Amino acid sequence: MVERREITDQVVQKVAAVYEWLDMQLQDAAERAPGCDACGKCCDFETFDHRLYVTPPELTYLAARLDGEKVKAMPTGRCPYNIIVACSIYDYRFAGCRIFCCKGDKDFQSALSESVLEKFKAICTEFGIPYRYIDLAAGLNSYAES
Ligand code: SF4
Ligand code: SF4
Repeated sequence: MVERREITDQVVQKVAAVYEWLDMQLQDAAERAPGCDACGKCCDFETFDHRLYVTPPELTYLAARLDGEKVKAMPTGRCPYNIIVACSIYDYRFAGCRIFCCKGDKDFQSALSESVLEKFKAICTEFGIPYRYIDLAAGLNSYAES
């Protein structure tokens, strides 16, 4: 029987590959996904009037990359990883964070989002993880409590 730790490691590797693929798509379509200034404004969801949804494999990936540190809860409308403008988990940030750009092409972002979600759904199916498309606060809060 495959150990839980081994399954987590495999999920983490698969999510890393999805993020690598996603970053390549964004690089290859630079004109439709212009560079973000990393001002951090859209990470304050309430003020920016923006929503971010995440999936279980991404939360598993983040939890594994935090190296023993607990996933932070999100008690306000602002992402707890948005520390003084910058993203403190930039390398491990979610697909939605990578795709969204206030200056970008919305149709391109939607199509890319759909493709990425299919990949996360496939990971869920492969590892028997219930697929959910969860609001960031709900996702972080559920992992912070576990
Ligand atoms: S993970 Fe980083 S980029 Fe994504 S919402 Fe939080 S602070 Fe912003
Ligand atoms: S997407 Fe826009 S609002 Fe969000 S960090 Fe980048 S430049 Fe700032």
